[in-house]
Amino acid sequence: MIEQLLSPDSPFARRFFFIARRFVAGERIADAIEAVRRINERGMTASLDFLGEDVRDRETATRTTDTYLAMLDAIASSGIRSNISVKLTAIGLLIDGDFALRNLERILERAGSSPDPFVRIDMEGSALTQSTLSIFEQAFAEHKNVGIVLQALLKRTPADVERAVELGARVRLCKGAYKEPSSIAFASMSEIRAQYLRLAELLLTRGTYPGIATHDRRLVAGVKEIVARHEIAPDRFEFQMLYGCRPELQRRIVAEGYNMRIYVPFGTHWAGYFYRRIAERRENALFALSSIFSR
Ligand SMILES: Cc1cc2nc3c(=O)[nH]c(=O)nc-3n(C[C@H](O)[C@H](O)[C@H](O)COP(=O)(O)OP(=O)(O)OC[C@H]3O[C@@H](n4cnc5c(N)ncnc54)[C@H](O)[C@@H]3O)c2cc1C
Repeated sequence: MIEQLLSPDSPFARRFFFIARRFVAGERIADAIEAVRRINERGMTASLDFLGEDVRDRETATRTTDTYLAMLDAIASSGIRSNISVKLTAIGLLIDGDFALRNLERILERAGSSPDPFVRIDMEGSALTQSTLSIFEQAFAEHKNVGIVLQALLKRTPADVERAVELGARVRLCKGAYKEPSSIAFASMSEIRAQYLRLAELLLTRGTYPGIATHDRRLVAGVKEIVARHEIAPDRFEFQMLYGCRPELQRRIVAEGYNMRIYVPFGTHWAGYFYRRIAERRENALFALSSIFSR
């Protein structure tokens, strides 16, 4: 229902894009490049995401892949410091796994000659965990510039982290943004945090340049404690946060000498992403409401 209301062509969505603007850098590549330029000026790097998911036709998936190629060219010609993040359902995973893999490989080949050649595959809901990991492994066998996201809320994730460490693949660790059944996922925040810190320690001590993706002060403090205890150099990992979320915490972490990468989504298909940000945090929902009344 909310997705229909916020579909890119709906008059409602056009009218209310200003609310999503805190979390979405804009609708065009040029908007995203400008947003990243400002992020770079604050001493942070970025990962650009062209919004879109659950694509069900080949034409749209191919167009999305072409947009990623254009983004890579724009990143290179503008000189900004950014890599890219891709959702496999945006480039055809729900249509045909081999088709999605071919699209991913086109992106990886173009990224290979970029200043930062790294491409992150975002993780989606648990129905897609296995197929996402399988496509990732097939791509990784040929292209070492690809990495994955693993979600601390899933009970299977310790085994997936072990596998990524064995492969020497880069992992972004996050809590997980999708509602999952209790048979396969932890429901309580204390269990999710405990698993997050166990997996972060594993990745920081044995993994390859992990991305510590969270806005949770307790997790940030826990990770700093792990780093200090194992005497891990600050250039061996990076913190990651979302565009528009906790900017003051982002700045403080940079001032303390850590690497910080900001995930910067842009494009017209912002509804699903925006909805997840609003649903997961009361502060975000309050921000959206206050934007409406403060115009
Ligand atoms: C860079 C990045 C990439 C991600 N990629 C994926 C992915 O591929 N797949 C996936 O499933 N999920 C992804 N996520 C989302 C992630 O899984 C969580 O849903 C999301 O980050 C919320 O969890 P959190 O750990 O940040 O803490 P939260 O539980 O959201 O927040 C912890 C505390 O932070 C504070 N806080 C959080 N946001 C705000 C705010 N806007 N304003 C004020 N205070 C705030 C609150 O006080 C709260 O108590 C990503 C997250 C990041 C940061």
